[in-house]
Amino acid sequence: MTFDFYDQTVVITGGTRGIGRATAEAFLSAGADVICLYGGDEAAAEDMRACHESAGGLRIECLDVADGAAVQAFWRRLEDEDVRPQILVNNAGIRRDAVLAMMPEEDWRRVIDVNLTGAYLMSKYAVQGMSNRRYGRIVNITSPSGQLGFEGQANYAASKAGMVALTKSLSREVARRNVTVNCVSPGFIDTDFIRDLPDDQAARYKATVPVKRFGKASEVASAILFLASRESAYINGAMLEVTGGL
Ligand code: NDP
Repeated sequence: MTFDFYDQTVVITGGTRGIGRATAEAFLSAGADVICLYGGDEAAAEDMRACHESAGGLRIECLDVADGAAVQAFWRRLEDEDVRPQILVNNAGIRRDAVLAMMPEEDWRRVIDVNLTGAYLMSKYAVQGMSNRRYGRIVNITSPSGQLGFEGQANYAASKAGMVALTKSLSREVARRNVTVNCVSPGFIDTDFIRDLPDDQAARYKATVPVKRFGKASEVASAILFLASRESAYINGAMLEVTGGL
């Protein structure tokens, strides 16, 4: 399936590495203007800038999605510049794993703040414009951890389960305005996010995946573009699993 996003602007949080970067590159190839937000890894942002500066259509900004004032200022700036995104991908995510009894409160709060509150903040401002213009697509990235729970991931799993609930609730609120809200649940995807796994643990996880390999970021990007396309108009409040059958 080829997608056409000419004349559309996409905002992607966590858009300079991993799944977010692959998604940004797929949108750029499909003709969209893309705004990538990132948390602070300047080297990754610079690398992406260098790879795409000649193509045009890409803007990269550092923005902590958990910072309410900064998020509001970002959306105000877009409005002042007459930039009106049709698509938001809430992809930024972090892990700070520890068994719950040993989990510092700071790590509980930061994971919820970035993964869940960040999506709330970004969506809050995005849907205002989308609702007024009677068109929009929001795609949220959740995780099987949010459905199953994983040892050492109470904070992460709670944030990702919350993402599904946020998706379903918001999808009901804005459906009549022609705005859809869905989520994608990637399985084990080969990005920096899971590269800290010890080899034996990675091998054990791989063995649990029916297709017997980790996924590629580009394979998640395809699902995101589908849900962000005009063709997916009747899919709302759904969760699309991209897990190799996990
Ligand atoms: P990466 O670690 O490769 O990339 C994470 C991205 O999020 C980076 O661009 C990072 O920016 C950004 N980010 C982190 N914190 C913030 C913040 N406070 N504000 C703005 N941006 C921030 O992760 P993946 O690409 O693998 O993961 C993307 C999403 O997919 C996450 O939500 C993750 O939970 C989810 N996921 C991933 C899976 C996997 O196996 N990889 C499995 C299931 C879900 P910077 O570069 O500046 O740090």
